[in-house]
Amino acid sequence: MPDNFRKELIETIGQVRGFLVDLQNAGIEEIPIQDMPVDVPVCPPGVCGADRGGDAVCRAETLDEIRSELENCRRCPLCEGRKNIVFGVGNPDARLVFVGEAPGREEDERGEPFVGEAGRLLDRILFAMGMKREEVYICNVEKCRPPRNRDPQPEEIEACEPYLKRQLAAIRPQVIVALGKFAAQTLLRDQTPISRLRGHWREYQGIPLLPTFHPAFLLRNPASKREVWEDMKQVMERLRQERED
Ligand code: URA
Repeated sequence: MPDNFRKELIETIGQVRGFLVDLQNAGIEEIPIQDMPVDVPVCPPGVCGADRGGDAVCRAETLDEIRSELENCRRCPLCEGRKNIVFGVGNPDARLVFVGEAPGREEDERGEPFVGEAGRLLDRILFAMGMKREEVYICNVEKCRPPRNRDPQPEEIEACEPYLKRQLAAIRPQVIVALGKFAAQTLLRDQTPISRLRGHWREYQGIPLLPTFHPAFLLRNPASKREVWEDMKQVMERLRQERED
């Protein structure tokens, strides 16, 4: 977190605390938070202009605004070899978001995530869940293809992750599925192996997150499809519960 933002946050927390003490002194014992809007828009400084004062009202930024900032991105060396930036695809109001690792050759050519062999398997998983690709949102930790599909490097993840965070903040899904080690470890800031992370619910920014195996891993290890299906059943159940609440 940048220093000026941290300072501002600490000041704001102090002001809120002071305000609550004032209310308490005035005899107000309870704040009816259930009547407050739960979907408080948040955006990074500089996006909506509200942080610069004036009349601008803070609102969540849109996926298109985030995408337009990435145009011609040269924040890491992956820009040298890419054909297309693979931003993400699907429903901007999705209840479910899948986060993968990085584009492969076909994704790089088409500018769309998960359109190769692993993507076709992801489509079949979605079909088994009774969902369509257009209903969910699909994106990756890295937006550009690493050469020869090698693993993402820490400095590339560091350059690209802010955009993933902003995508997730813009969508605010009810559930996130982290596909594979890089998505799970990056979002959770946890280096535990994916074999131990998978199948266990965690939280990302207050959103339930379930790590599972990456479809590319399943292509090499078809026996693990059973575990992924167990995970997807948990996801369907969580989405069902959210609909009822
Ligand atoms: N693997 C990923 O992690 N993402 C894609 O988009 C394609 C394959």
